[in-house]
Amino acid sequence: MNVSTYLSELFAQIADIGRDEETGGYRRFAYSDEDRRLRAFFAQTMEKLGFTISVDAANNQWAWWGDPDRDPEHNLVLGSHLDSVPDGGAFDGPLGVLSAICAVELLLGEGFHPKGAVGIVNFIDEEGARFGVACLGSRVLTGETTFARLRQLSDYAGRPFVEVVASTGVDPTELRRDELALSRIGRFVELHIEQGHQLINLDSPLGLASFIWPHGRWSTILTGVPNHAGTTPLAERDDPVIKAAHFVLDLAASAEKHEAVATCGKIVVEPNAVNAIASKAQLWVDARAEDTDTLDRLAADIARFAGGYGGTLMNESLTPATVFDRPLTEAIVSILGHPPVISTGAGHDAGILATHGIPSAMLFVRNPTGVSHSPLERANMEDMVAGVEALMRVIQGLSG
Ligand SMILES: [Zn+2]
Repeated sequence: MNVSTYLSELFAQIADIGRDEETGGYRRFAYSDEDRRLRAFFAQTMEKLGFTISVDAANNQWAWWGDPDRDPEHNLVLGSHLDSVPDGGAFDGPLGVLSAICAVELLLGEGFHPKGAVGIVNFIDEEGARFGVACLGSRVLTGETTFARLRQLSDYAGRPFVEVVASTGVDPTELRRDELALSRIGRFVELHIEQGHQLINLDSPLGLASFIWPHGRWSTILTGVPNHAGTTPLAERDDPVIKAAHFVLDLAASAEKHEAVATCGKIVVEPNAVNAIASKAQLWVDARAEDTDTLDRLAADIARFAGGYGGTLMNESLTPATVFDRPLTEAIVSILGHPPVISTGAGHDAGILATHGIPSAMLFVRNPTGVSHSPLERANMEDMVAGVEALMRVIQGLSG
């Protein structure tokens, strides 16, 4: 079968799930009805191909070709996630899952028999769009996130995580690290749409990831004096929103100085009334840099800025640089004839697995707009076909 026809058919089967007609973006959140339909699609598609379906203790879906417990060290797992951010693109996540399905089906058709078992995973809640924790499926699977933390989470509507999960028929108290599922991941290769411009600049359809930038999240509360928007003279105001505006500009300037990135993507203003000077503004900062020293210097700047406006900077998470498995990456580089190796500022399930000692690698497919987490995200069919063919060669090279 033609690769592009098959891949288009797979994308067509999920094209209407969670699509917003107005923006063209996707809303596919964990434990939603859209998620349920995507998981059903995954299970049905893999069952039809003769794969054995299972769900681990973190609620990730697995499909296995061959016995995953016979010689687990030589197993090869592909896949990614099917959930999205609010108004996400069609490719972030699904491209990795669908390309893997396409690659294994074509190899099955060619009569290929892998030496070790080959698995495809659909990680739940990679984007963290609903409960605010990214890569929740792989974090629970590895035990990095335990039930003690899960029970504190609530979704964007304020609904507790445990209640949302229980409403889908899953017992949230049973979500935990899964030794058996982990032992089966001999090696993990996640294909993903690129979330930047590096492959455009390198004029290459594919690239391999070397490492993920270190990454931190912080928050601060800037306070003021609530008052009337009409009767309070400008000189007498203590307006936390103006402090917040200065803070965001300082943040951007500092990120530029350090050649890093820093984002204030979430601000909560209280009481959030159009005709009142606010009493406080809470701001969240996401900052990433190519190395830990640079991120430390940027974080020191951010703390100083917050202090200057009367706030205290609170650290919410700090993730060190994730270096992907060198022997696995080198093996793939030689199988694929030396594609470019690039670093990435985005977190992924492959990064969580790598941190927990599972040999993992990532393969990126060029994104012609360079835009991600947006309906403007794109992938050219030619490049996607190159991605599927690369996965086929990786399976043949590592499991042949
Ligand atoms: Zn993704």
